[in-house]
Amino acid sequence: MTEKAAEAGTEVLDANPVLRIEISSSHVEVITKNARYRSRLVIGADGMNGVTAKSTRLHPHWDPMQVTYAIESEVMVGERGVLAYGEPNEYFDLYFGVSPAGYGWIFPKDDHLTVGVGCRLSELRSGRQLFDGFTQDIPLLRNFETPSPRAQLIPLGGAARVPVVGNRVMLAGDAAGFAEPFFGEGIYFAILSGQIAANAAAIACQKDEFSSESLQQYERECMRIFGKDFEVAYHLACFSFLEQYDMKRIVRHFFSERRVQQCMVGLMDGSIRYREARAKLVWPYFKYRLDKLGLPIYSD
Ligand SMILES: Cc1cc2nc3c(=O)[nH]c(=O)nc-3n(C[C@H](O)[C@H](O)[C@H](O)COP(=O)(O)OP(=O)(O)OC[C@H]3O[C@@H](n4cnc5c(N)ncnc54)[C@H](O)[C@@H]3O)c2cc1C
Repeated sequence: MTEKAAEAGTEVLDANPVLRIEISSSHVEVITKNARYRSRLVIGADGMNGVTAKSTRLHPHWDPMQVTYAIESEVMVGERGVLAYGEPNEYFDLYFGVSPAGYGWIFPKDDHLTVGVGCRLSELRSGRQLFDGFTQDIPLLRNFETPSPRAQLIPLGGAARVPVVGNRVMLAGDAAGFAEPFFGEGIYFAILSGQIAANAAAIACQKDEFSSESLQQYERECMRIFGKDFEVAYHLACFSFLEQYDMKRIVRHFFSERRVQQCMVGLMDGSIRYREARAKLVWPYFKYRLDKLGLPIYSD
């Protein structure tokens, strides 16, 4: 992607970390390790721990309720091991109930399995214990060495309420909290929000208008294009794994339903959107509620 940006005429400055950003009424100054750059506007696409949100005081720190901790490793099982597990890229497992506010996953890839577990940061006790506890319970993994896992944070889109614009500044991608909260998919939304921000920046430059109010159009566009999906995804995440008060019943009446599983696959491969999935998930959810109230269920 960096190469493509360079081909399109972007000047790429590598190994030159941004130290801080200063915003005045007439310009933005980006102070890096090697130089100072002056601009009319800055787009901060520097991830969850980026300098832009902190330095401009748009979003100085994350609330642990708004963040998922994800810990993951790649287990080399060879092509045969993957085939024994399931078809690569066509099959995956989600394990609910293995984390206090999250789930475990196994994704078969060409010659390895991506194995990980997530937990809402506010509920996390020990990341390593969570990971070891999950992987030790999976028989297949006992025959293979599991390399040291890598842990990272992902914003819980829908819960992460980040002010994404200020005077002469916009945030995109993880910096803006734009990761879908059910599967933690953030790459697509980082690119999409970057494109929307670029359009908004071009309009701001044409009009020579960089106030927070005029840049609000960027935020509105993001909400229009994917904000509704994040809201539905966050509700689904709360119900199914973030607030696990009734996991056994949820698994029995919700996740074991074929239509719910089909929805999960469709959401994962992008063939359906959360706003469409909601209608398909209403009946399984209703069945779960009926069972919880002790009422009989007469139809499938
Ligand atoms: C374990 C795990 C698995 C995941 N799996 C998936 C997946 O399968 N699919 C998916 O869609 N998403 C996945 N995600 C989420 C996804 O990785 C992120 O949502 C996505 O990378 C966000 O992109 P971004 O460009 O906003 O931020 P980042 O990818 O964090 O990029 C920010 C960039 O800014 C740079 N930067 C930061 N600070 C500075 C500074 N001071 N100066 C200069 N540069 C700076 C960083 O070096 C980095 O290059 C996963 C996340 C985790 C933790």
